[in-house]
Amino acid sequence: MSATLIDGKKISAQIKEEVKEEVLQLREKGIVPCLAVIQVGNDPASSVYVRNKRKACEYTGIRFQDDLLPEDTSQEALLDRIQELNEDPQVHGILVQLPLPQGIDEKAVTYAISPAKDVDGFHPVNAGSLFLGEKGFVSCTPAGILQLLKRSGIEIAGKECVVLGRSNIVGKPMAALLLAENGTVTVTHSKTRNLREVTKRADILVVAVGKPRFVDDTFLKEGAVVIDVGIHRNESNQLCGDVDFEKAAPRCSAITPVPGGVGPMTVAMLMKNCAQAAAESVQEEPRNGGR
Ligand code: NAP
Repeated sequence: MSATLIDGKKISAQIKEEVKEEVLQLREKGIVPCLAVIQVGNDPASSVYVRNKRKACEYTGIRFQDDLLPEDTSQEALLDRIQELNEDPQVHGILVQLPLPQGIDEKAVTYAISPAKDVDGFHPVNAGSLFLGEKGFVSCTPAGILQLLKRSGIEIAGKECVVLGRSNIVGKPMAALLLAENGTVTVTHSKTRNLREVTKRADILVVAVGKPRFVDDTFLKEGAVVIDVGIHRNESNQLCGDVDFEKAAPRCSAITPVPGGVGPMTVAMLMKNCAQAAAESVQEEPRNGGR
C-alpha cells in the first residue's frame, strides 16, 4: 500500500489565509486582534518558538505584543503582569511561553490567565468545556490534528481511534476531540499492557509518546491513518517524529511527515484561537455565563 502524505504545510497555510481574512473583517469593525506573549528568561528554544508566533501574527495581521521578562522574575511579579493583561481590553489572547525558570509554578501561572484570553486552551475552564462539549479554546496541537484529519477527508465517526500518550496538552484533549466527532476512542500510556494489541486495532492512531521513532509497522493495522505528533532531532541532527516513518508508511493509508505534518498546524491554530478571542471580546454576552 502506498500511503497518502497528509500535508500540514498546505493545510496550515489555508488556515492562516482564513484567519487573515477574519482579522481583516475584525479590523474593519475597529477591532485589532492582539496576542500578548510573555517569555521569562532567554531559553534559546523558547525564543525560536516566540519568533515563529510573531511571524505568524505579522502574516495574519494580529498585533503581537512581546513581553520579555528577566530570568529572575518572581512568580508574584509574573502573576501581576498576567493580571494587567487580563484587564487590558486591547489584549485578546495571552500566552506564557513554557517552560518557565525553576521556582515558578507553571500550574499557578496557567490558571491565572483569564479563560476568555487563554488561547493555548490550557486553563481548566477551557479543558473542562472541551470535555463537556461546550464552546471554549482548544489546545492548539490537537485542534490542528483534527483539522488535518477533516481537511484530508478522513472520516472519524464510528472509527477505532487510539491515542498514544495522555498529556494534558496533547493526548487528553485529542481523545476528547475524537470522541466529540463520534470516534470510538482508546487512550494508551506507559502503564498500558500489550500496547501493540491496542494500537493494532486503530483505524486512526495519534502518536504523542515523546520518544523518537517509537512506533513502527509492528504497531499498525494495514491501512491505518497515522498522525505523528513527536518532534526530535536524530543522531545526524535531522528532525524526526515519534513514528519510524520508513517502516510505518508502507502499512498506512495516510500518514503525517515530520517535519511538515502536525508541527505547522499548532501555530496556525493559535492564530485561529486569537481571532476567535478577539471576535468574542465584543459579544454582549460573554461565553459560559461571564467567564
Ligand atoms: P509527554 O507529556 O511527555 O507525554 C508522553 C505520554 O506518552 C505520556 O502520557 C506517557 O505515559 C506516554 N508514554 C511514555 N512512554 C511510553 C511507553 N513506553 N509506552 C506507552 N506510553 C508511553 O509528551 P507530550 O507533551 O504529549 O508530547 C508528545 C510529543 O509530541 C513530544 O515529542 C513533543 O515534543 C511533541 N509535541 C509536538 C507538538 C507540535 O506542535 N508538533 C506540540 C506538543 C508536543 P504516562 O502518562 O503513563 O507517563
